[in-house]
Amino acid sequence: MTEKIRLLEKVSRQLEEDTKERSEITGLTIQFAESFIKDIGQEKAFRHNQPSNRDWLAFRADENPKDPKDIFNFLEKELLKPGLNPASGGHLGYIPGGGVYMAALGDYLAAVTNRYATVYYASPGAVRMENRLIRWMCDMAGYAQNSSGYLSSGGSMANLSAIVAARDALKITPETIAKSVVYYTLQAHHCIDKALRISGLSTVIRRIIPMNEKFQMNTEALGKAIEGDLGEGLLPRMVIASAGTTDTGAVDPIADIADIAEKYKLWYHVDAAYGGFFMLTATGKRLLKDIHRADSIVMDPHKGLFLPYGSGALLIKNRENLLRSFHYYANYMQDAIDPEDEVSPAEISPELSRHFRGLRLWFPLQLYGLKPFRAALEEKVLLTQYFYQEVRKLHFETGPEPELSVMIFRYVPKEAIHNPEAANAFNQSLLKTIQDDGRIFISSTTILDVFWLRIAVLSFRTHLEHIELLLKILKQHTAHN
Ligand SMILES: *Cc1c(COP(=O)(O)O)cnc(C)c1O
Repeated sequence: MTEKIRLLEKVSRQLEEDTKERSEITGLTIQFAESFIKDIGQEKAFRHNQPSNRDWLAFRADENPKDPKDIFNFLEKELLKPGLNPASGGHLGYIPGGGVYMAALGDYLAAVTNRYATVYYASPGAVRMENRLIRWMCDMAGYAQNSSGYLSSGGSMANLSAIVAARDALKITPETIAKSVVYYTLQAHHCIDKALRISGLSTVIRRIIPMNEKFQMNTEALGKAIEGDLGEGLLPRMVIASAGTTDTGAVDPIADIADIAEKYKLWYHVDAAYGGFFMLTATGKRLLKDIHRADSIVMDPHKGLFLPYGSGALLIKNRENLLRSFHYYANYMQDAIDPEDEVSPAEISPELSRHFRGLRLWFPLQLYGLKPFRAALEEKVLLTQYFYQEVRKLHFETGPEPELSVMIFRYVPKEAIHNPEAANAFNQSLLKTIQDDGRIFISSTTILDVFWLRIAVLSFRTHLEHIELLLKILKQHTAHN
């Protein structure tokens, strides 16, 4: 038996290469990353997909290792070429992601050291780090000491956790679901509806509240809807506001909704996945100054702090409301009971073993300091305002003046002024032209049957030159109309 063990050991030790081999592969990896970053200014933001099944077959999981050079060539061709490049400054679609380099180094250290960032007892350092980051965000939002939260994989998971916590705090039971009412607008992110379904609340009554001309929740209509529901013996439960909608960047009236939520004792959730970190700027601070009145808040570091994907955050005003839903007790974890007053992510989130997300956030914050993050966010707000001004000069129609860094616009050719379908078709075709060109990537949305082009300026690499390039492309394809 020991002979067999030794034989296996010999092979299994291949998982721990020697220093020379390690530095060789590390060198190639860094080379690959460096050339990616060096070329990003010239590379397209978008390329149509052309998959090659043959190459993917050659890189199945099989018994023997591949040549590193072949692996990197494969990645270059099959990973980097097709689709969207969210790390590009030319990415102005959806909500752009980030990818600041120091976050990658934080991830690298997190992976190599593989600390167990979910139970305080196992890694006091990792859990403290995440809890301090959450505290920093709670302070930013104006939450008091009893608040808490956790670093999630993204906004969808954080919104889901918030809705589960609300469900339990409100004691919504199978008997009361069908009489319980949740209020939001059509501009709420689709992950809210998904979260209601996942959390067993699919038969809850969804009251879609009308919006004003700036696509913000009409709070008068909210009040009326609640009164109407009370009159019918229903149970108003939860109101969900957006602090920066994905479609138009609109911030719902945070304070007015808080007044109503307090009056009718509703759980007040603010989805600030996109807009939350604008609180680092004067504009965002002004718009979100009342956000502390919410019971729960979501914000995504992989949006407003330019981290790579996989970084969201849930903040909750009363930490008991997370513990109630997510605490656990397992016999095999009996050594892991929290000895100090430091809450473990495993006690307040759906996950147990999880990525040590704190380091990818903490490391860049230490190395860059906050100043360039603030500057970048302020720059994005101004770039959007600049685009708003300039695109109007090119005779584009626009949606509301942007509050943050998302806005909608469209071109109505003379011949389509009385023909909504022709106007939609023109903008659909303009979108395709821009995407085929690929230097700048923008996306679109349809609001009340109107097809809009849309930019979201949130890549840390997006600067004036990209906005000028987009304006130039738009001018080129509309000038003759
Ligand atoms: C992006 C976004 C989400 C979803 O977050 P993910 O991180 O993509 O899961 C939810 N709400 C809003 C307002 C968003 O912008």
